[in-house]
Amino acid sequence: MLNLVLFGPPGAGKGTQSQKLIEKYGLIHLSTGDILRGEISQGTELGLEAKKLMDDGKLVPDAVVIGMISHKLDANKDAKGFIFDGFPRTVAQAEALDTLLESKNAPISGMIALEVNDDELEQRLLLRGKDSGRPDDANPEVIRKRIKEYNDKTAPVAGFYQGQNKYKSINGIGSVNEIFDAINAIISSY
Ligand code: ADP
Repeated sequence: MLNLVLFGPPGAGKGTQSQKLIEKYGLIHLSTGDILRGEISQGTELGLEAKKLMDDGKLVPDAVVIGMISHKLDANKDAKGFIFDGFPRTVAQAEALDTLLESKNAPISGMIALEVNDDELEQRLLLRGKDSGRPDDANPEVIRKRIKEYNDKTAPVAGFYQGQNKYKSINGIGSVNEIFDAINAIISSY
Protein backbone atom coordinates (compact mmCIF):
# COMPACT_ATOMS: atom_id res chain seq x y z
CA MET A 1 0.00 0.00 0.00
CA LEU A 2 1.10 3.56 -0.69
CA ASN A 3 0.12 5.70 2.29
CA LEU A 4 1.22 9.29 1.93
CA VAL A 5 1.01 12.18 4.33
CA LEU A 6 0.98 15.43 2.40
CA PHE A 7 2.12 18.13 4.76
CA GLY A 8 2.39 21.88 4.82
CA PRO A 9 0.72 25.04 6.06
CA PRO A 10 -2.72 26.23 4.91
CA GLY A 11 -2.46 27.30 1.28
CA ALA A 12 0.69 25.25 0.54
CA GLY A 13 -1.02 23.38 -2.31
CA LYS A 14 -1.83 20.05 -0.66
CA GLY A 15 -5.31 19.85 -2.18
CA THR A 16 -4.06 20.63 -5.70
CA GLN A 17 -1.31 18.03 -5.55
CA SER A 18 -3.64 15.47 -3.95
CA GLN A 19 -5.94 15.63 -6.98
CA LYS A 20 -3.04 14.81 -9.31
CA LEU A 21 -1.76 12.02 -7.06
CA ILE A 22 -5.20 10.39 -6.85
CA GLU A 23 -5.36 10.24 -10.65
CA LYS A 24 -1.87 8.84 -11.05
CA TYR A 25 -1.84 6.28 -8.24
CA GLY A 26 -5.55 5.51 -7.67
CA LEU A 27 -5.38 6.46 -4.00
CA ILE A 28 -8.22 7.44 -1.70
CA HIS A 29 -8.01 11.11 -0.68
CA LEU A 30 -8.72 11.75 2.99
CA SER A 31 -8.88 15.49 3.69
CA THR A 32 -10.16 16.21 7.18
CA GLY A 33 -10.93 19.79 6.10
CA ASP A 34 -13.16 18.50 3.25
CA ILE A 35 -14.86 15.97 5.55
CA LEU A 36 -15.54 18.70 8.12
CA ARG A 37 -16.93 21.05 5.45
CA GLY A 38 -19.20 18.15 4.36
CA GLU A 39 -20.51 17.86 7.92
CA ILE A 40 -21.13 21.63 7.99
CA SER A 41 -23.06 21.61 4.72
CA GLN A 42 -25.19 18.70 5.97
CA GLY A 43 -25.91 20.67 9.14
CA THR A 44 -24.88 17.85 11.51
CA GLU A 45 -24.22 18.50 15.18
CA LEU A 46 -20.53 17.76 14.64
CA GLY A 47 -20.49 20.24 11.76
CA LEU A 48 -22.07 22.97 13.87
CA GLU A 49 -19.48 22.51 16.62
CA ALA A 50 -16.57 22.34 14.16
CA LYS A 51 -17.72 25.41 12.25
CA LYS A 52 -17.25 27.70 15.26
CA LEU A 53 -13.63 26.62 15.62
CA MET A 54 -12.86 26.59 11.89
CA ASP A 55 -14.28 30.07 11.34
CA ASP A 56 -12.05 31.25 14.16
CA GLY A 57 -8.92 29.66 12.65
CA LYS A 58 -8.57 27.05 15.41
CA LEU A 59 -8.09 23.31 15.17
CA VAL A 60 -11.01 21.03 15.97
CA PRO A 61 -10.40 18.52 18.81
CA ASP A 62 -8.13 15.54 18.08
CA ALA A 63 -10.78 12.98 19.10
CA VAL A 64 -13.18 14.34 16.47
CA VAL A 65 -10.80 14.11 13.51
CA ILE A 66 -9.26 10.80 14.64
CA GLY A 67 -12.77 9.32 14.79
CA MET A 68 -13.51 10.58 11.27
CA ILE A 69 -10.31 9.08 9.85
CA SER A 70 -10.87 5.76 11.61
CA HIS A 71 -14.34 5.59 10.08
CA LYS A 72 -13.01 6.35 6.56
CA LEU A 73 -10.26 3.72 6.85
CA ASP A 74 -12.88 1.11 7.79
CA ALA A 75 -15.12 2.21 4.92
CA ASN A 76 -12.30 1.73 2.35
CA LYS A 77 -10.89 -1.66 3.25
CA ASP A 78 -9.84 -2.55 -0.31
CA ALA A 79 -8.04 0.73 -1.07
CA LYS A 80 -4.65 0.68 -2.82
CA GLY A 81 -3.56 3.38 -0.44
CA PHE A 82 -4.46 6.73 1.04
CA ILE A 83 -3.39 10.35 0.81
CA PHE A 84 -3.76 12.08 4.14
CA ASP A 85 -4.26 15.79 3.47
CA GLY A 86 -4.55 18.15 6.43
CA PHE A 87 -4.18 15.20 8.81
CA PRO A 88 -2.32 14.52 11.11
CA ARG A 89 -2.20 18.11 12.36
CA THR A 90 -0.97 17.40 15.90
CA VAL A 91 1.51 14.87 17.30
CA ALA A 92 -1.40 13.13 19.10
CA GLN A 93 -3.14 12.69 15.72
CA ALA A 94 0.07 11.26 14.20
CA GLU A 95 0.38 8.74 17.04
CA ALA A 96 -3.26 7.73 16.67
CA LEU A 97 -2.83 7.29 12.89
CA ASP A 98 0.12 4.94 13.44
CA THR A 99 -2.01 2.85 15.79
CA LEU A 100 -4.90 2.73 13.31
CA LEU A 101 -2.60 1.69 10.46
CA GLU A 102 -0.76 -0.89 12.58
CA SER A 103 -3.94 -2.89 12.83
CA LYS A 104 -4.06 -2.93 9.02
CA ASN A 105 -0.38 -3.76 8.59
CA ALA A 106 -0.12 -0.80 6.21
CA PRO A 107 2.20 1.83 7.70
CA ILE A 108 2.76 5.37 6.42
CA SER A 109 5.16 5.22 3.44
CA GLY A 110 6.34 8.76 4.03
CA MET A 111 5.52 12.37 4.70
CA ILE A 112 6.09 14.90 1.92
CA ALA A 113 6.14 18.52 3.07
CA LEU A 114 5.49 21.51 0.80
CA GLU A 115 7.47 24.55 1.92
CA VAL A 116 5.96 27.98 1.30
CA ASN A 117 6.74 31.20 3.20
CA ASP A 118 4.09 32.98 5.29
CA ASP A 119 3.71 36.03 3.00
CA GLU A 120 3.05 33.87 -0.05
CA LEU A 121 0.56 31.75 1.96
CA GLU A 122 -1.41 34.79 3.04
CA GLN A 123 -1.61 36.04 -0.56
CA ARG A 124 -2.73 32.64 -1.87
CA LEU A 125 -5.41 32.20 0.79
CA LEU A 126 -6.86 35.66 0.28
CA LEU A 127 -7.01 35.00 -3.46
CA ARG A 128 -8.66 31.59 -2.89
CA GLY A 129 -11.17 33.23 -0.50
CA LYS A 130 -12.43 35.42 -3.32
CA ASP A 131 -14.02 32.50 -5.14
CA SER A 132 -13.97 29.52 -2.77
CA GLY A 133 -16.59 31.05 -0.48
CA ARG A 134 -14.64 29.64 2.48
CA PRO A 135 -15.16 32.02 5.41
CA ASP A 136 -11.77 31.06 6.88
CA ASP A 137 -10.04 32.24 3.68
CA ALA A 138 -11.74 35.63 3.46
CA ASN A 139 -10.33 37.30 6.54
CA PRO A 140 -6.62 38.20 6.99
CA GLU A 141 -6.92 37.93 10.78
CA VAL A 142 -8.28 34.36 10.59
CA ILE A 143 -5.61 33.45 8.03
CA ARG A 144 -2.88 34.65 10.38
CA LYS A 145 -4.44 32.67 13.24
CA ARG A 146 -4.43 29.51 11.11
CA ILE A 147 -0.78 30.02 10.22
CA LYS A 148 -0.02 30.51 13.93
CA GLU A 149 -1.93 27.30 14.87
CA TYR A 150 0.12 25.57 12.20
CA ASN A 151 3.43 26.84 13.56
CA ASP A 152 2.50 26.04 17.19
CA LYS A 153 0.71 22.69 16.91
CA THR A 154 1.24 21.24 13.46
CA ALA A 155 4.88 22.00 12.58
CA PRO A 156 6.07 19.55 15.34
CA VAL A 157 4.41 16.70 13.40
CA ALA A 158 7.33 16.93 10.93
CA GLY A 159 9.70 15.95 13.77
CA PHE A 160 7.53 12.94 14.52
CA TYR A 161 8.06 11.57 10.99
CA GLN A 162 11.72 12.68 10.92
CA GLY A 163 12.18 10.43 13.96
CA GLN A 164 10.91 7.53 11.83
CA ASN A 165 13.10 8.54 8.84
CA LYS A 166 9.98 9.18 6.81
CA TYR A 167 10.19 12.94 6.26
CA LYS A 168 11.08 14.71 2.99
CA SER A 169 10.44 18.34 2.11
CA ILE A 170 10.28 20.14 -1.22
CA ASN A 171 9.89 23.72 -2.38
CA GLY A 172 6.16 24.47 -2.69
CA ILE A 173 6.75 27.54 -4.88
CA GLY A 174 6.86 26.82 -8.61
CA SER A 175 4.48 25.48 -11.22
CA VAL A 176 1.96 22.80 -10.24
CA ASN A 177 3.72 20.35 -12.56
CA GLU A 178 7.22 21.08 -11.24
CA ILE A 179 6.01 20.41 -7.72
CA PHE A 180 4.19 17.27 -8.86
CA ASP A 181 7.43 15.99 -10.47
CA ALA A 182 9.33 16.56 -7.23
CA ILE A 183 6.68 14.61 -5.30
CA ASN A 184 6.82 11.75 -7.80
CA ALA A 185 10.60 11.56 -7.48
CA ILE A 186 10.19 11.02 -3.75
CA ILE A 187 7.44 8.40 -4.22
CA SER A 188 9.63 6.43 -6.58
CA SER A 189 12.30 6.24 -3.87
CA TYR A 190 9.95 4.34 -1.50
P1 ADP B 1 -6.24 24.65 5.11
O1 ADP B 1 -6.34 25.21 3.74
O2 ADP B 1 -6.32 25.72 6.17
O3 ADP B 1 -5.11 23.71 5.32
P2 ADP B 1 -8.22 22.56 5.64
O4 ADP B 1 -9.33 22.44 4.69
O5 ADP B 1 -7.23 21.45 5.72
O6 ADP B 1 -7.58 23.94 5.33
O7 ADP B 1 -8.81 22.77 7.13
C1 ADP B 1 -9.72 23.82 7.43
C2 ADP B 1 -9.97 23.84 8.94
O8 ADP B 1 -10.53 22.60 9.38
C3 ADP B 1 -8.73 24.03 9.84
O9 ADP B 1 -8.39 25.38 9.99
C4 ADP B 1 -9.21 23.38 11.14
O10 ADP B 1 -10.08 24.23 11.85
C5 ADP B 1 -10.04 22.21 10.66
N1 ADP B 1 -9.25 20.97 10.53
C6 ADP B 1 -8.99 20.32 9.37
N2 ADP B 1 -8.24 19.22 9.59
C7 ADP B 1 -8.01 19.18 10.93
C8 ADP B 1 -7.28 18.32 11.79
N3 ADP B 1 -6.63 17.26 11.30
N4 ADP B 1 -7.24 18.60 13.11
C9 ADP B 1 -7.89 19.65 13.61
N5 ADP B 1 -8.59 20.52 12.87
C10 ADP B 1 -8.65 20.30 11.54
